Amino acid sequence: MKAAAGDHDSPFAGDRPTDWSQALRAAGLRVTRQRLAVIDAVIQKPHGTIEDILDEVRPHLPRITIQSVYFVMNSLVAAGIVRKLELPDSPARYEVEDHDNHHHAVCRYCGRIEDVACVTGEAPCLRPEAHVDMTIEVAEVIFTAVCHECATTQQARI
Ligand SMILES: [Zn+2]
Ligand SMILES: [Zn+2]
Repeated sequence: MKAAAGDHDSPFAGDRPTDWSQALRAAGLRVTRQRLAVIDAVIQKPHGTIEDILDEVRPHLPRITIQSVYFVMNSLVAAGIVRKLELPDSPARYEVEDHDNHHHAVCRYCGRIEDVACVTGEAPCLRPEAHVDMTIEVAEVIFTAVCHECATTQQARI
């Protein structure tokens, strides 16, 4: 169904399921209109916040509440279908879990987020040099950046 973590052939969205109902069932979740609508919204709005997802889902399910979106999202994150991003100074953001171990570059002025491919092609991507008495599984890197637009406007300000 999905690429295993560290699949070399899928740096970005390689083996994303085409049948989300089947993906939900495989994850042990019941197939509901809300779940399918939230997955669809996450695909439309990668790195979206809960509010972005709500905006996207509402035209299809007018009576859905933000609490329901949270609830559905948490079940999708727990099932490994959606990946939750915790970025500094930002509400949680969501994207489809492609198991590609990609990282993120975040503009420190406007908050724009871009995907950065896994540096080595497989998790954990980075290993600490100092000895750590644990098995490192995943390294999630946030690159602090300045996007081109902000670089131009910041330059103008100096
Ligand atoms: Zn920017
Ligand atoms: Zn991403």
